Order: sequence, then C-alpha cells, then structure tokens
Amino acid sequence: MKKKYPRPTFAQGTVNRFGQSRLGSDLRTLNSNARILQPGEFRPQQPAMSSFYSDENLGLNSDGHRRQMIDGLRAEGIEDERVLAAIMQVPRHRFVDEGLASHAYDNAALPIGFQQTISQPWIVARMISLICRTRVPAKVLEIGAGCGYQAAVLAQLIPRVYAIERVRGLYEMAKANIQHAPLAERIQLFFGDGLEGLPQYAPFPAIIVAAAGLDLPKKLLQQLTIGGLLVAPLGEVDQNLVLIERTGSDSWTRQVLEPVRFVPLRPGTQI
Ligand code: SAH
Repeated sequence: MKKKYPRPTFAQGTVNRFGQSRLGSDLRTLNSNARILQPGEFRPQQPAMSSFYSDENLGLNSDGHRRQMIDGLRAEGIEDERVLAAIMQVPRHRFVDEGLASHAYDNAALPIGFQQTISQPWIVARMISLICRTRVPAKVLEIGAGCGYQAAVLAQLIPRVYAIERVRGLYEMAKANIQHAPLAERIQLFFGDGLEGLPQYAPFPAIIVAAAGLDLPKKLLQQLTIGGLLVAPLGEVDQNLVLIERTGSDSWTRQVLEPVRFVPLRPGTQI
C-alpha cells in the first residue's frame, strides 16, 4: 500500500519577513536546496514537534529537536556518523530568521532572504558525506556560503573551512551567524565570486558547491588536489548532484548522483 505522508506545515506556505514561502517538501518550489524524492521512495515521517515554541524555548529544547532530526537523516540513508555528529553540534535555529526558528529542525530548505535558501539538512549531510567518503580532508572550499550553516557544520569535522558568498548581505549574515557555532575559528569567509575559487589558498582536497550551474569553470576544477573531490549540483531545470574526482593533472572523472533542486550559481557579486 502506498504510504501517505503529511506535508510539513511549512510546505503549505508561511508568511515571514521574506514574504510568502513555498518550500518544505513542495516539489514545485523553484527556490530550494533539496533532494527530489524518487517516485515510491520511502520518506519517513518527520518526528512530531510541538506546533509552537518561542526561540528561547527552542534554544532550551534544541538538543532534543536536533537529535530527532538526526534520527530522521539516519532513516533517510545518511550513514556517516561523523557527519551526523557534526550536524548535532550546530544550532540550525540560529541560522534562520526568528520567525522560522520553529521549522529549523524540519528536513526542509528555508528562505534566508535575497531569494536564497538555507539547504535542507539531508543535502548538507549528503554533500559532506561524499567529500569525506575516503578520508576527512584537511581543508575544504565551500562556494555559496548563504547564511553560513553548512560552513559551520563543515568546521565540526574539517580543520580549515574556506567559504565564499557572492551576495554582500548574506556574507554579512553568515559572518554574524557563524559566531553561534562551536569551532567558528576554523572558518574563513570571503565575499566574492566563487566561480573564481580561491587561488591563494588552493589546492583543495575537497570543494562543495552549494548552488547549481550548467557546468563548472576549469579554473575551479584545477584548484582540486589530485585525488581531490568536488561535489556540486549541475543542471538548470533538471539538476543532479555530481561527484567529480581529479585523477591527474588534466583529468577528472564524474559520477552523476540523485536529482536535486538548488538555487542558481551566478557569476559576479551582488552588493
Ligand atoms: N551553503 C548554504 C546554502 C546557500 S544557498 C547553507 O548552508 O545553507 C546557495 C548560495 O550560493 C546563495 O547564498 C547564493 O548567493 C550563493 N552563490 C550563488 N552563486 C555564487 C557564486 N558564484 N559565488 C559565491 N556564492 C554564490
């Protein structure tokens, strides 16, 4: 029998200071960083959470909510306990608008302003698991820091995290948010176009791209170490997560993974 899952409240549209949102599990959304479920794919029900709690209460209860979220991620196929432990350390409710704090531990993307989103926890866990597949890299470059959440999770595992954001307001937001994460001193944030990479800190054993382009510039791929891994969503309407490995000075392999939906990777900066 086909199992019916309730749509999270958030997916029905929530008004917050960023306007009407249509995110959560709503597959029609054009503005989310989420996995797209395959037909018939098992989707465990979200753990029950109280319908309303203040940010203060959420702060007090957030360990419990995070633990429930992690159980949900485990049930949805995230197996790397190092990654789950890293997610456990980061108070996601501190990275979203106060009005959305009660949804911070839903497995959903949420708006962060500037028409961008904080990625779905499943996607964050998946991308980090992929770059840590063989070994935890000594450093990582993240392109598209947004509100800083993924950079904060990365810092729980990886000693040096470099993250670039092209929207000035988000870069400022990420800088402020990151203060709420342990090990924030491991993170260096940059305002700029991530398509340029960070040549002064290259090469990187791992790169995560948090926005979708049609392809990636060679100058970015060349900032991987040989044996280094890059994970990125590629495509326009139909996007897939792609894992790229640099196999030699001028050779890379590509593995196309599951369908996803990300905000677009854009050139240049926005003040
Ligand atoms: N990593 C974030 C997700 C942010 S959404 C998280 O933790 O939830 C993707 C972000 O990529 C947006 O903030 C967008 O502004 C940014 N972005 C898009 N193109 C970019 C580029 N060329 N360089 C840097 N950031 C870019």
